[in-house]
Amino acid sequence: MKRLVYLDNAATTQPFPEVLDAMIPYYSRYYGNPSSGYELGEESKRAMSLSRKWIADTLQVAPETIYFTSGGTESDNWALMFAVSASKKRAPHIITTAIEHHAILNTCKNLEKSGVRVTYLPVNRNGIVLPEHVERAIRPDTVLISVMYANNEIGSIQPIRKIAEIAHRRKVLFHTDAVQAYGQIPILVKEEGIDLLSASGHKFNGPKGTGFLYARQGLKLQPMIHGGGQERKMRSGTENVPGIVGIGMAARCSAEILEKKMRYEKRLQNYLIDRILTEIPESCLNGSRTKRLPNNINISIAGINGPAVVALLDLEGICASSASACSAGIQKASHVQLAIGKSEQQAYEAIRFTLGVHNTREELDYTVDVLKQCVKRLRESSGCHEV
Ligand code: PLP
Repeated sequence: MKRLVYLDNAATTQPFPEVLDAMIPYYSRYYGNPSSGYELGEESKRAMSLSRKWIADTLQVAPETIYFTSGGTESDNWALMFAVSASKKRAPHIITTAIEHHAILNTCKNLEKSGVRVTYLPVNRNGIVLPEHVERAIRPDTVLISVMYANNEIGSIQPIRKIAEIAHRRKVLFHTDAVQAYGQIPILVKEEGIDLLSASGHKFNGPKGTGFLYARQGLKLQPMIHGGGQERKMRSGTENVPGIVGIGMAARCSAEILEKKMRYEKRLQNYLIDRILTEIPESCLNGSRTKRLPNNINISIAGINGPAVVALLDLEGICASSASACSAGIQKASHVQLAIGKSEQQAYEAIRFTLGVHNTREELDYTVDVLKQCVKRLRESSGCHEV
């Protein structure tokens, strides 16, 4: 079998063995509906409670503040739609950033159709939103500030604490899309003043189709999905018990190894960045070197098409990603690269490697060697540069 070097952990992660082991009994033996009153159903209910507690413990909050969802997209939609529907304003205003994931951006676009006003804040060259810009954008009709914890393309970590402090001072709700940050870096929702937080299970070695929304105590959350009244009437539909068990175990395992994993990934990150920047001429790092997720490396190589490199890497068994999103078959320049001041052409040059705890230095050596060959080949074929 072809060798596989998986360097796309921001896209998804391999479930921990503990996660799979924990889930399987809830597909086989304990298949009861948690709403059923008999013992088989009670077992599912107990498993869900434990999972909720494990997640709550990682954030140091009460279990009742955690609501299970189908993933980051649903949690983001819920947070935004809740803030709008809970407001008494005729045309509520939301502040967000130009670099959010489409789960936020397209929800905002959709809300705009029904009269919601949205401000999309710019970011600096490092992909970081300035708190003073947030403060200046607040208006009397502002109901929500939604700023992602860390960016999915360039890994830039936002000044969440400062932004939340501004939001509270101005009596505005604060939501953060922490899909890329949860399980990767420490998050303390209470200390940081976060009212609502979205996370997605498969981004931290849990199962796909699972996620949660944290809503701080005292917040009168409203449902987005209506039906049988599960999740304390907040999110109807028979619960995905195996998935919920899996996300809880993933949260627990991620928290146990967090510090060690961060240190390990930081070392690998520095190693890969340094090797690429010194060995590949006209390469640069996109985003901040320091205010960055420890697993994210996003580079551009002048004159080299990112999607072409990704395709060549794939031939050698390396999974990476180009920053350009392919929607409905049309390649579009990454909105994140454009937001940090890249031209359309430069936006197509970006390549993203995202590390996981399973990656090794030897895999990175292999990747750099292959990358250099790919760049040489592409430069030779375009007849412009030499490596
Ligand atoms: N938000 C961010 C920052 C993401 O990176 C993603 C997925 O890549 C999402 C939201 C959506 O998560 P999911 O696809 O698990 O619903």
